[in-house]
Amino acid sequence: MVKLHDKFFKPFISAEEIDRAMTRMASEIAKDIGDEIPVFIGILNGSFMVVSDFVKKYPKPCEVTFIKLASYEGVKSTEDIQRLIGLTQDLTGRTVVILEDIIDTGNTLAEVHRIFKNEQVKSLKIATLFYKPEAYKKDFKLHYIGIEIPNKFIVGYGLDYDGLGRNLPEIYQIKQTEYMTNLV
Ligand code: 5GP
Repeated sequence: MVKLHDKFFKPFISAEEIDRAMTRMASEIAKDIGDEIPVFIGILNGSFMVVSDFVKKYPKPCEVTFIKLASYEGVKSTEDIQRLIGLTQDLTGRTVVILEDIIDTGNTLAEVHRIFKNEQVKSLKIATLFYKPEAYKKDFKLHYIGIEIPNKFIVGYGLDYDGLGRNLPEIYQIKQTEYMTNLV
């Protein structure tokens, strides 16, 4: 059991299981992409560990970069309006693979698609280590999925709870009590 701030988290997915899922995804992607040199793009902050471990498993030459979501300044809205920053590279004609830590509602992915529809990429593939099918509300295809999980809040392996937990090498799931309903 792990305590982060005021919440308790129980062990859920081991480092070994994560490692196996990442190895499988890396070989699937390498097989599909063939001899092209892909550009792997991680979405910060959560994906830093996924990307770092994933590219070590990728058996061929590749490029790696990161982008970050930032809220628009000065927008007073209850809606979570965001933009992507950090994309400076010319991706014309390139095979791009977005590496996500987790896909939940798909809102982040929608923003990624919105940005990339103006880029003349050769192909855009989406890979995610964790996927919550019960929470996903979009129609965008997810090309590579590591592990499907239930619609419960997790931490570890880059994912945080209010800034804590990113450094845990395995995944923990929030321990629900009858008083806790806001995070599950
Ligand atoms: P989306 O709902 O746009 O698919 O996911 C948005 C972001 O919410 C993810 O990139 C991730 O940072 C965060 N997120 C979604 N589900 C979880 C979760 O279970 N745990 C943590 N720590 N973050 C999550």
